[in-house]
Amino acid sequence: MTVIDETILTVLNKATGFPIDQLAFTAPVDLDRVLRTAADVQRDWARVSRHERYRLMTRYAAAVAEHTDEFAALLSIESGKPLAQCQGELGICERLFRGFAERMLAASERADFLDNQAGLEGDLLLTHREPLGVVVAILPFNFPIELFAHKVAPAIAMGNTVVVKPPLEDPLAVVQLVSLMTASGMPEGLVQVVVGGADVGAALVDSDVPAAISFTGSTETGKTVARTAARTLKLLTLELGGNDAMIVLPDADLDLVVEQAVLGRSIANGQCCCANKRIVVHESITEDLSTRLADRFGSLRVGDPALDGVEVGPLIHDRAASKVASQVEETLQAGARVLAGGHRADGNFFEPTVLAGVTPDMPVARDEEVFGPVMSILEARDDETAVEIANNSSYGLSGAIFSADVGRAMRVATHLQTGQVVINGTGLYRPDVAGFGGYGLSGQRREGLSESLTEYSQNKNIVLRRVLDSGRGAR
Ligand code: NAD
Repeated sequence: MTVIDETILTVLNKATGFPIDQLAFTAPVDLDRVLRTAADVQRDWARVSRHERYRLMTRYAAAVAEHTDEFAALLSIESGKPLAQCQGELGICERLFRGFAERMLAASERADFLDNQAGLEGDLLLTHREPLGVVVAILPFNFPIELFAHKVAPAIAMGNTVVVKPPLEDPLAVVQLVSLMTASGMPEGLVQVVVGGADVGAALVDSDVPAAISFTGSTETGKTVARTAARTLKLLTLELGGNDAMIVLPDADLDLVVEQAVLGRSIANGQCCCANKRIVVHESITEDLSTRLADRFGSLRVGDPALDGVEVGPLIHDRAASKVASQVEETLQAGARVLAGGHRADGNFFEPTVLAGVTPDMPVARDEEVFGPVMSILEARDDETAVEIANNSSYGLSGAIFSADVGRAMRVATHLQTGQVVINGTGLYRPDVAGFGGYGLSGQRREGLSESLTEYSQNKNIVLRRVLDSGRGAR
């Protein structure tokens, strides 16, 4: 749905197909200039005191709050996501800039007396966190603003500068957020945005200038990024795809399961990394739960998110809608049955779809990520089989378990090979503070308030030799 000519990107309203705005693609010569500026500004920014960085970041958070309605409306039309979800994303952005600023200000650094090692009794070790340098942040189309904040806020808090590459499909709100930085008093060049697709992304990853790449997107692109980044041994954060399982044990509260499964599979129009794409149900309740899921999921209102009451908007482009249609078709040909939906509607809309009779050998039950509003129901005879089915994927992002018996759910949780497990809620759950990230092909390293300040900085050990009187405490 995004029309590209040689130099201009036209961004479209994803529900109507009408153009919203145009941006100039960043030419290779401009990319070099952006990277050089980022390196120059970083040397000055690293010397700005932490209390001043805190002041600028919290002022920016307040400016984001003031622009929430305007930017959320823009994100909604360029992404096709319902407005309330986009407002929520702006809220996360504001909280993260404030939250990372506060944590950075409160963090203390270490001084170690070294009399725990013979011969070093007079020495003092200071451990100081230094910035990495220039960080490149590459964003996916599904949560560009939330992920902008998860990458940019901790990076600048720790003294880095950032070059942001938003997705081609919906870059406009991110461009506005970057403009707001200088408008709210941050230095020019602290955060810059470049416009482009795979070629611009690859050039950034291959450049000698950045010290680190923070990438969120598909596993396939993540592998390409890792290969390219290996040449210069850049630090990599990779947040990649998922095919999360929601395990439903026989004593689960099925009303809660239906509510949470529908929520988890409809947010972002079914285009979420940590959504409950596979529902793994104990055989004694499969029929009952399947009927309820089909009734509820199949009755969600699909349409232009600008209209009141719409719960599911369009997929991001024609390719995405065709891919979901062919994945559903292949699963049906392999023997699954449609209980609700199953079709692509006009435009890039896809009906909320429930597939029953999915078996563990089918691609959607293993490594095929369906990026649209489709749930696959698989049956398990006991807890052990449910875990086997859930783990039978090279992804390992999030997951969910429903049971009235928390002890039983905990036992199952400890066996799941995923970076997160939610008990009695959808796995589409990301508290700001959690170190979010996946096992296996879902990625490397973690993002969140508790982790990212460390991820975007490095230890410098400074040792003062023979400064202590070979011991500690008053004599
Ligand atoms: P994508 O991989 O197609 O694109 C992601 C970004 O990478 C875009 O900005 C794109 O322009 C850029 N890119 C493409 N080729 C590149 C290259 N060779 N070098 C550098 N950059 C390149 O992903 P998408 O379709 O935008 O997003 C959907 C995917 O992202 C899904 O697989 C989803 O599960 C995943 N995702 C993961 C998380 C997470 O936290 N784990 C969060 C959101 C989305």
